[in-house]
Amino acid sequence: ANLLLEEARQILARLQQAGFKAYLVGGFVRDHLLGRPVHDIDIATSAAPADVMHLFPRSVPTGLRHGTVTVVMPVHSFEVTTFRKDGEYKDHRRPETVEYVDSLHEDLARRDFTINAMAMDINGQVIDPFGGQQDLKEGVLRCVGEAAHRFEEDALRMLRCIRFAANYRLAIDEEAWSAILALRPLMKHIAMERVRIELSKTIEGEDPDRGVLLLLSSRLLAYTKEELAWRPFAASDAKERLLAELKLVRMSPLARWVSLFLAGEHTSDEADVIARKLTFTNELRSRIVKSLRMYEHMRRETAADAPLAERDLRRIWCDGAVTYGREAAEILYEVRDLYRTESWHELTVRRMPDWLAEMSVWTPADLAVSGRDVMHLRARKGPWISRLLHELTVDAAMGEAVNEKQELLRLAEDYMRKWDPS
Ligand code: ATP
Ligand code: MG
Repeated sequence: ANLLLEEARQILARLQQAGFKAYLVGGFVRDHLLGRPVHDIDIATSAAPADVMHLFPRSVPTGLRHGTVTVVMPVHSFEVTTFRKDGEYKDHRRPETVEYVDSLHEDLARRDFTINAMAMDINGQVIDPFGGQQDLKEGVLRCVGEAAHRFEEDALRMLRCIRFAANYRLAIDEEAWSAILALRPLMKHIAMERVRIELSKTIEGEDPDRGVLLLLSSRLLAYTKEELAWRPFAASDAKERLLAELKLVRMSPLARWVSLFLAGEHTSDEADVIARKLTFTNELRSRIVKSLRMYEHMRRETAADAPLAERDLRRIWCDGAVTYGREAAEILYEVRDLYRTESWHELTVRRMPDWLAEMSVWTPADLAVSGRDVMHLRARKGPWISRLLHELTVDAAMGEAVNEKQELLRLAEDYMRKWDPS
């Protein structure tokens, strides 16, 4: 982290030697003042992008439209952006034009919140024209300028407001909160991808439970471009209380997402649709859906009357794990509070940790036999092979068969006799 700051200072020094102004800005200053870990540093300068590229041969014009050049230093890269003021906002998203200016103050004035509108010079002196330090001290999140005007310019700032309030445990200033309630229909102008980025930073952030509460009470997600129909964010819902008690903060990021779908009583198919609309990566979407499918599998098989015996339960868990993977099983344990009304809940909570630790076989790939080893059992290849391996996997996972080649082959023959008795 020291090296990061050192390299950033070298960039400032170089720009200043060439006669330009240059400062560390934005998130870095905020996190530095709070003593939080810093992962990147943004730099603002009076130098035009062409000047920056000239001074730093190892640089890439990554965002020329916004005046941003990425400068590559030996260890880290830095976004260096020319001081600018935004032109008129016509579509509640992005300024029509940006204009380069010579004043740091004007550049800070276009930023969204006072805590994000501070700069630091090469000597560590903080420049803070809007009272960001005071707001940090008082624990308030406040817009730079008039809140309603700033949210009208760029509606995404309403979601950013919730993100920063949650991640920095700040109270949202009253003016900003009423502006959100008045202007939330403007969310429909924002690309879903930008929505997803802010939402992910909130849910995967420091205080997701507060984030969820703010999302619920603002209902911002009920006004997005694509209709998410994501209960309970979409409409007032009895699950609100449950959500409020969730303690997502104790969970892994994946378990947090799964919880939000379970709390909304969404099927895996519905979750899949919502995750697509939100432009989640395919990877995240499929991990969420697998956990939900395993949950549905459990519910389906236990819908019948009597309480389950431990053995039956284990069988379902093993089968689920083989089909949906170890991670899905672990997530279901992590989100156990969400299904505390299910009949199998208590047994699951009591036995799952041991079982997760003991189980050595999770997928057919973990077996001591492969498809090749069992192929000779029938004249033709076919889906029976994967079905057979699945059964063997469950048996080994259950601890009912030793994961050893001879024993598994014997067992395989038993299955085949059972399946075609002729
Ligand atoms: P982090 O990187 O930790 O998520 P950050 O403050 O760096 O936090 P970014 O989204 O990376 O947040 O934005 C960098 C800076 O650019 C912000 O601190 C803020 O000053 C400014 N900024 C970003 N988005 C907007 C916006 N929509 N409106 C106004 N200013 C913005
Ligand atoms: Mg940043």
